[in-house]
Amino acid sequence: MPRFFCPAPLHTGAVLELPAGAARHVQVLRLQPGDSITLFNHGPHWESGSADSSPGGEFDATVTQMGRSHVQVQVGAHRAVEREALREVHLAVVMPANERMDWLVEKATELGVASIQPLISERSVLRLAGERAEKKVAHWQSVAVSACEQCGGNRVPRIYPVAPLAQWLRGLAASNAQEIDAVRLLLSLREGSHPLRGWATANVTAPAVFLSGPEGGLSATEEEAAVASGFSAVSLGARVLRAETAALTALALLA
Ligand code: SAH
Repeated sequence: MPRFFCPAPLHTGAVLELPAGAARHVQVLRLQPGDSITLFNHGPHWESGSADSSPGGEFDATVTQMGRSHVQVQVGAHRAVEREALREVHLAVVMPANERMDWLVEKATELGVASIQPLISERSVLRLAGERAEKKVAHWQSVAVSACEQCGGNRVPRIYPVAPLAQWLRGLAASNAQEIDAVRLLLSLREGSHPLRGWATANVTAPAVFLSGPEGGLSATEEEAAVASGFSAVSLGARVLRAETAALTALALLA
C-alpha cells in the first residue's frame, strides 16, 4: 500500500487535505477516491516538545476526493507499528561531493539513521553555505522522506543545517543536543582505532553518534579535536573505504 509522510496532526475519523508534497505524490500515482493509503507524521518538525501531535506509528487512510492539485483523505485506524533501528544512531558526516550525498541520505535513512549532520572540513570537496546550503538541506530532507515512504520507516530523520566541523564540535560541548547523551565514535584509519564491530556487539542498544570524514580524510588536527571532544576512534578494518561506504558500513553495524 502506498505510504505518505503527512506532517500534520492525524486522528482517526479526521477528514483532511494532504500537504502539497504528499498530494503531488498521490496525483503522480493516479490514485482514485476509495483507494487505501498509509499515512505517518512523525518527522523532524516535531522532535522538540510536541510529541502529542504525533503518536508515531502509522494510520490507514482512504482517498475521498481528488482535485486538480488537492487530495482529500479520511484518516482511519491508527497502528502503533515502528520499524526503527535497535538504537538511536546519529550520523555526522563530512559531505561527499556530487550525488554521493543524496545517495548516502537515502541509504542511511533505509538503515534507520536517527539524524544526519552534514559537515564541512578542511579537505571538503563540497563547500556549501547560505541559500545553496539551505536548499540542499531541504532537498536531502525530502530524500529522507521518500526513503521512509519506501522502506516503511515511520520516523523521518532530521537533516541538520550544514555546519563547519570545528563549530559543530564546539556546539556539542555547549548545547543540550540530543546527541550529547550518545556515545561518540570517530571513524578513523589511525593506528590504535578499536574495531567498531566489537563495540557494537558489546553495546547493543547504546545510542551513538559517529563522525565520518570526507574523500580526502580528516586532518590530524581535526581528528585530535574530535578526540578532545570525547570521540573514540573506531575502525572498520584495514581497507580504506570511500566516505559513503564507511558511513553506511558503520550504520549497518550499529543500527
Ligand atoms: N584518503 C583518506 C581516506 C579517507 S576515507 C585517507 O587516507 O585518510 C573517508 C573517511 O571514511 C575517513 O575519514 C574515515 O572517517 C572513513 N573510513 C574509511 N575507511 C575506514 C576504515 N577502514 N575504518 C574507519 N574509518 C574509515
